[in-house]
Amino acid sequence: MLDLTFEAPKPKLISGAKHDWELVIGMEIHAQVSSNAKLFSGASTTFGAEPNSNVSFVDAAMPGMLPVINEFCVEQAVRSGLGLKAQINLRSAFDRKNYFYPDLPQGYQISQLYHPIVGEGEVIVEMAPGIARRVRIERIHLEQDAGKSIHDMDPTMSFVDLNRTGVALMEIVSRPDIRGPEEAAAYVAKLRQILRYLGTCDGNMQNGNLRADVNVSVCRPGQYAKYQATQDFSHLGTRCELKNMNSMRFIQMAIEVEARRQIAILEDGGTVDQETRLYDPDRNETRSMRSKEEAYDYRYFPCPDLLPLEIEEAWVDDIRARMPELPDEKKARFMRDFGLTDYDANVLTAELDAANFFDEVARGRDGKQAANWIINELFGRLNKEGLTIADTPVSATQLGGMIDLIAKGEITSKMAKDLFEILWTEGGDPAEVAAARGMKAVTDTGAIEKALDDLIAANPEQVEKAKVNAKLAGWFTGQVLKATGGKANPAVVNAMVAQKLGL
Ligand code: ADP
Ligand code: MG
Repeated sequence: MLDLTFEAPKPKLISGAKHDWELVIGMEIHAQVSSNAKLFSGASTTFGAEPNSNVSFVDAAMPGMLPVINEFCVEQAVRSGLGLKAQINLRSAFDRKNYFYPDLPQGYQISQLYHPIVGEGEVIVEMAPGIARRVRIERIHLEQDAGKSIHDMDPTMSFVDLNRTGVALMEIVSRPDIRGPEEAAAYVAKLRQILRYLGTCDGNMQNGNLRADVNVSVCRPGQYAKYQATQDFSHLGTRCELKNMNSMRFIQMAIEVEARRQIAILEDGGTVDQETRLYDPDRNETRSMRSKEEAYDYRYFPCPDLLPLEIEEAWVDDIRARMPELPDEKKARFMRDFGLTDYDANVLTAELDAANFFDEVARGRDGKQAANWIINELFGRLNKEGLTIADTPVSATQLGGMIDLIAKGEITSKMAKDLFEILWTEGGDPAEVAAARGMKAVTDTGAIEKALDDLIAANPEQVEKAKVNAKLAGWFTGQVLKATGGKANPAVVNAMVAQKLGL
């Protein structure tokens, strides 16, 4: 496991006109379950389908239709819970959350208020190398998504697309353990990374497949410690909930302006109303959506159409046994087995595709070398072309083969850069391409030695200087490389220079 030091919460301090204030943030994240079918119907979940084409009678709430739970969605929720080191509840139950909205034909959302499938867990967020914060997860429950109302297609009419209606969501609720905008973004990023590794949510924020309700409050220094000691929320300030945020950048900006808004009210002697607000990125402000008084009374009650959900310990154990390696474990392994730096390991584990690519290249090779090639050359080139690792024209086998040629001294690093470029544009087997293009490092030490001896003989003053200041020996290496047309291996030349000059 990663070698981590857990840090006490470091709240972001915001100075108001009169006092200093601390931020307190808790998040409710809606993550769309990766599943081909919906939570209670067999309708497809494909994104971008023709409006209202993925709607079964159950989703459309036709009279007499009954929901049937999708076992795979339950498995995905359990897997997510295990990934967050959470308690799995063998018995959970579904409730109806009643409200009217045109994109909700049932007139209620089936959710899990009283008995969620997943209980307490945690997300470990690294704020600096080796320095971590623990954000407690309160629960994960399964629920249905609603459809989409479209108001901007016609001047006089609104439209409803029910494709999303009934798609499974996991609502992942954190405790108010997040203490600043950067931490909030880091939390979302880490949670997203874990879910993507697990394959339980694709994390596509643009499509709304992962969106956050961000609860923000402010308190005077010292108050949070009292909350921590007692878990009594009355020590904290009144929160406002910023709804449906799906951009890391906007989450951070919204938290900051919302905190400042609350501070201004409090310093003015006012009180913060608990309400739901929307962030407007164009004006960088939050606006009230509905206040507590206007809040819906959802009249939750157990859904009579569904039996309590009972799952077996053995089934959970089976899912546990098939858990993939998670980001922290992978990062720790990359650092331990391949000697990667914290930074390189972070970069290479950020996305599973990239981590798998690295694993394949590094296996049986110098991991550091593999990391350098992937991060500097491959990622650099992919970025330039706007491609992701999934579209890389240079495969792990090709890159690995090329690194082997360098390791065996058959090509120099400089040649390898040219070879990489050819593999990128034309493809081919690295050894064959190198041979066909006459890329061959001078390994004949005789030729190198001859060039060096000639140089030493012709430049006695340089020899004296290098003997006094070893750094100047680099001049000889440079000259030999030049004399051999860049084909000599710099490491070999360096060693020979040092030996000949007696350094
Ligand atoms: P509700 O039932 O109204 O949704 P919850 O108790 O479920 O309220 O809390 C919702 C979210 O708000 C949780 O993520 C929780 O951590 C967070 N939260 C609760 N109190 C505060 C507070 N004072 N400041 C910031 N976040 C809070
Ligand atoms: Mg809630």
